[in-house]
Amino acid sequence: MNLTDIGEFGFIESFATKFDHLIKEGDRGIGDDCAVLSINNTTNHVITTDLLIEDIHFLKDKISAKELGYKSLAVNLSDIAAMGAQPLYSFLSLGIPKDTPVEFLDGFMEGFYQLSEKYHTPLMGGDTTKSADKLVINVAVVGSVEKSKMHLRSMAQTGDLVCVSGFLGDSGGGLKALLEPYEVDANLHKLINRHHQPEPQILEGLFLGKSEHVHAMMDVSDGISSDLKHILKASKKSARIDKEKLPASPLLAEVSEKQQWNLTELCASGGEDYELLFTVKPEEFESLNQEFVAKFGKPLYVIGKIEEGPAEIQWYKDGQSIMLDKLGFNHFGG
Ligand SMILES: [Mg+2]
Repeated sequence: MNLTDIGEFGFIESFATKFDHLIKEGDRGIGDDCAVLSINNTTNHVITTDLLIEDIHFLKDKISAKELGYKSLAVNLSDIAAMGAQPLYSFLSLGIPKDTPVEFLDGFMEGFYQLSEKYHTPLMGGDTTKSADKLVINVAVVGSVEKSKMHLRSMAQTGDLVCVSGFLGDSGGGLKALLEPYEVDANLHKLINRHHQPEPQILEGLFLGKSEHVHAMMDVSDGISSDLKHILKASKKSARIDKEKLPASPLLAEVSEKQQWNLTELCASGGEDYELLFTVKPEEFESLNQEFVAKFGKPLYVIGKIEEGPAEIQWYKDGQSIMLDKLGFNHFGG
C-alpha cells in the first residue's frame, strides 16, 4: 500500500490514538489546530507546528523572500488564533541549500520579524542545517489561553450557525493567477498578495474566543469544504451549507467574471484564506456580529447551520440540495 491510497489524514489517523494513554489528563494531542498543555487550573498553553517545503508549498521564483518569511509565521499564528489564544513565542528551523544567497535569508528573516513584531511574538530558538537542494522551513508557535475561553473543533452544537470571519477564495484566486499564464494586472496582483501575505486573525480569535456562545472554532487552511468536515467529525454533527452564502470579495467576484473562474469552487475549496471558521448559538449571532463590526470594521458571515446526522456537508443552492464535487486539498491524495 502506498501513501496515496490512504491520504494525509488516513496516515495521521493510523497512529494518532496510539499515544493517547501517554497523554496526561487535561492535555490534548493530535486532532485540533493546536496541541493543548494544561499549565495550571486556569490556563492552557497551545502549540502548533507547520512544515513548508520548496516546490510543494511554495515556488521560490513566485514569492519574495520577505513574503515567504512572513507567510511561514502567519500560517502558524493562524492556528493559535483558531484556539482563541494569544501567541507567546515562536521557533524556526531551516534546511538551507548551500547556494542560497545571504540576501534571500536576510529578506526571509525581515518578513518573519515584521509579523513577530506586530503580534509581540519573539523568536526564541530553532535549528539550521544544510539541505541537498530544496529550502525546508519548520515553524512552531506557543500560545496561551484561559481554559474557559478555549475553543475546540469538537464543540459544535446542533442548531448552531456556521460562520466565517471574512472573505473566502481570494488566496485560491491568487494561487491560480500565479500558476497560470495570466498577464498580471492590478486586480490579480491584489489576489496574489492575499495568497502571499495572509493576515492571521489573532485579535478576531481572541474576541470570538471570549464569547461563551461561540462553540467550535478552527482556521480555514485547506478550504471550508475540507476544513468544516474536521469540525463535523470531531463534534459528531452534520452541516447544511448554502452555496450562495459563501462570502466572496467584490475583487474576487470581478476577477472571476472576467477570467471565467468558478467563484463557488474557489470560495469552497480554494484554501489558504486563514479566516476563522466557527459555530455560534443562533440567538446570539446578531449581538456578536454588531460588536464584531464595531471592533473590526467588518462583518461576520453566516454560511449554514449545524444539524444532527452523519459528519458530512450537505450543500444547498436556492433551497435545493446540490453536489459539490471539488474536495479540499489533501497533500497525498486519497
Ligand atoms: Mg488549522
